[in-house]
Amino acid sequence: MIKFFSADYLVPVSGEPIKEGVVSVNESGEIIKIYDRESASTIIEPIEKHKGIIVPGFVNTHCHLELSHLHQKFPKNKGLISFIKSVMAERKADEKKVVEAMVKADKIMVENGIVAVGDNVNNALSKEVKLKSSIYYHTFVELIGFEPGKAKEVFDKGLELKGQFAPLAASVAPHASYSVCKELFKEIREYSNKEKNLLTIHNQESEEENKFYRYKSGEFIDFYKDMNLDIEFYKPQARDSLQSIIPLIPKGKKILLVHNTYTSLKDVYFVRRFGRDINWCFCPNANLYIENRLPKVDMFMFDDFNITIGTDSLASNDKLCMLSEIQTITKNFPSIPLLTTLKWATLNGAKFLGIDRDFGSIEEGKTPGLNLITDVKDFTLSAESKVKKLL
Ligand SMILES: [Zn+2]
Repeated sequence: MIKFFSADYLVPVSGEPIKEGVVSVNESGEIIKIYDRESASTIIEPIEKHKGIIVPGFVNTHCHLELSHLHQKFPKNKGLISFIKSVMAERKADEKKVVEAMVKADKIMVENGIVAVGDNVNNALSKEVKLKSSIYYHTFVELIGFEPGKAKEVFDKGLELKGQFAPLAASVAPHASYSVCKELFKEIREYSNKEKNLLTIHNQESEEENKFYRYKSGEFIDFYKDMNLDIEFYKPQARDSLQSIIPLIPKGKKILLVHNTYTSLKDVYFVRRFGRDINWCFCPNANLYIENRLPKVDMFMFDDFNITIGTDSLASNDKLCMLSEIQTITKNFPSIPLLTTLKWATLNGAKFLGIDRDFGSIEEGKTPGLNLITDVKDFTLSAESKVKKLL
C-alpha cells in the first residue's frame, strides 16, 4: 500500500523545501513520488498531514554503541584525559549488561529518527545488536597503539576484529593522533591503499593533544607514565597534532575527523593544502559534556568541505539525538541556517558513509526514512522542537 505524508514543508535536503509538499512511500519505505502543492491536488488517497517539517532520516556519523552502559556514570566538564581514564577503568562490565545497554541505545536512536550510524568499536559485542537493528551500521574498528614495536600486532588484531563483523560494513581506523604511532598509521595507510577502507579519527578533542604534539608537554606525559608507556622515542613536532598526522593519511581516501574542538584556522588551511579527502564531524553535546567547549563550527564552512554530525556515545552524552546536536549548534551559532545543519545531519553523513544512493535525502527511489520536526518557525528551531519518526 502506498502511503502519503505531508507537512507545512517537505524538506528533501537535496533540493529546496516544498511548501505543503507531499511524499508517497511504498511498503518497503521507498520514495515513489514527490508532489508540490499544486500536483498534490490530484491525489485522491488519504494524506497524513502534519504540523512542522518533514526531513529525511538522520545519519549519525560518530557513536560508540559499546559504551552505552556508561550512561551518566562520569561527571561533566572534567576534560578529555580524565574522561579517557574513566572509560578505561570502567568499560569492562558484565557482557549481558553491556549488550542490554546497546540494545536500548539502538532503540533510542531508531526512535529519534536515526537511520544510519558510523560506530567505533574495540570488541565484537555490538555485532548481534547491529545485525538485528533496522539501522544501517558502518563499524570502525579503532586501532590503539602508541608503541612502534607493537604496531603490526595491533593492526593484525584489528583486521581480525573487522573480519568478525562481516557481513556488516566495517573498516579499520586510527583511534586518535595521541594513541596511534607513525608505524601504525603506516600499516593503516598501506591497507587503505589496497582495500576499500573508510577512515575516521578522533581529532583535537583536547588542547592537551596539541601541547603533546607541539612541545611534548602537558597532561598526556603523565597519562603515558601512568600507563607505563615509554615514550622516549617520541619527538616534539613543533606543530599541532592535525598538521603532524595529515601526511600519514592516505591520499584520495575519505577520512572523517571527529570533534575538532581545538582545531585552528591555520590547521584547516594546512589540511586544505595537503589535498586529502577530509570530512569534518561535530559532536557538540559530547564536547560540552567533556571539555565544556565547542569547536569553531562556522570556521569550517568554506571550500565545500563535507561536514557531518555525530552524537558520540552515551558515556559523554545525555542522549543519542541528532536534533539535539543541531539545536546545540543553532543555539551557539545562530547564523548557520537550519537547512545547512539538516544537510550535515542527513545527506552529508550518507555521502561520507557511501550510502547516499539509499539514504540522506527525500528523492524518488531512495529509502531514507522520514522524520517530522515540530515547532519550526521560518525554518528556525525552538527549544520545544521535537523529532518524531514517521517512517
Ligand atoms: Zn568518539
